[in-house]
Amino acid sequence: MVVPLTPPRIAALQEALAAVAADVDRVARRSRDPVSFVHAEERDDDREIVALLAAQLAFGNVTTILAKVDDVLNRLKRHGKTPTVALDVLVDPAGDGSRLAALLVDFKHRVFIGADVAALLAGGRLLQRNYGSLGAAFAHAWRATGETSAALALARFCDELRALGKFPPRGDPTRRGASHLLPDVARGAGAKRLFLFLRWMVRPSDGIDLGIWDFSPAHLLIPVDTHIHKVARNLGFTDRNDASLTTAIEITNALRALDPQDPVRFDFSLCHLMMKGDCKEEAIPEICEGCPLRPVCCHHEAPASKTEKATRRRPRT
Ligand code: SF4
Repeated sequence: MVVPLTPPRIAALQEALAAVAADVDRVARRSRDPVSFVHAEERDDDREIVALLAAQLAFGNVTTILAKVDDVLNRLKRHGKTPTVALDVLVDPAGDGSRLAALLVDFKHRVFIGADVAALLAGGRLLQRNYGSLGAAFAHAWRATGETSAALALARFCDELRALGKFPPRGDPTRRGASHLLPDVARGAGAKRLFLFLRWMVRPSDGIDLGIWDFSPAHLLIPVDTHIHKVARNLGFTDRNDASLTTAIEITNALRALDPQDPVRFDFSLCHLMMKGDCKEEAIPEICEGCPLRPVCCHHEAPASKTEKATRRRPRT
């Protein structure tokens, strides 16, 4: 059910989402989130590379994700004191990343193999060399695509990264992981991990996001994982069942009504609220009782409508 965003509804949602944000222990949560690896770096070029790696590997169980990102970074550390220094040793100026691929040859995470991760890191580092930073490469993609859509700009940014990193051609049956590691946003993929990477780089520094790119957060799109999809349905932002780009746009448009300048600012808090796993997407008193979203949840009647019903039911005298 999609609920119309009337002014009273918007005000109630703003209040409830602020309560969610206030309720989440961000520091404790960050230590169990892949973004913690990004905060561990001191230089922006290293932060960009680690963010790209950590976001794109953020697929599956969080404990495994943290172990896999750590594994790649530890391998890089054998060749340089920071990730970009190591990549400069392992990827030559002509783009030959065979030493990097050899370093990761036995790496595997879900459908991703070492060659896929090597292509991602080599492409990222070569983009940095060409433009000065990944932020500058993205800004170039933004201008080149008409400054209309972050998804379009991301698609172009990824095309360039794929070419530099020598990703295999799309449809190569031996390298399905490569196209999954860097999905094609232009083809409608939800690309939640790419939107997450963008959020980390763009949103103002708040202890989670880092705000190192000069780009307006107003253009960001929500990364739709299972948790955000669930909460968006509970709040009446969408009734779509897929995690496509269309769904991400629909949910972001609803959030934009609450905060046009920073529509995805509640992403981290909402995601971590749902990660607790209590919500069953139905009204269960013992679960919903303490939920900060209860006043605006579609599975509960709004207090106003209850009052209206009671008024309607009252016998005439
Ligand atoms: S009120 Fe209940 S159903 Fe609604 S979001 Fe919270 S836990 Fe889920």
